[in-house]
Amino acid sequence: MVVYVYRCPCRSEIEVTFPIGTAPAAVPCPGCGATSVRAFSAPMLTRTPAALSSRLERAERSAFEPEVVTSPPRRRAGGAVVAHPATGRLPRP
Ligand SMILES: [Zn+2]
Repeated sequence: MVVYVYRCPCRSEIEVTFPIGTAPAAVPCPGCGATSVRAFSAPMLTRTPAALSSRLERAERSAFEPEVVTSPPRRRAGGAVVAHPATGRLPRP
């Protein structure tokens, strides 16, 4: 199944799923009922960058198997611990 995009005169875009090669040239708009013509768009051929892909995989893995920390957090040159930005908003004891 492929998602095809149709453009309506009411300026809305409609996404309809059809099997490959069976998409009609026009479909009725579900909003206004006007005939919407098929809009050709570029297929999603771009590849996910390697850095983003590895981070996404790591995030997905950690949802089920959290990583075990084997060393303390790294320190900056001044001696301050590099903290995650989200932990700065947590209440302090
Ligand atoms: Zn419409």
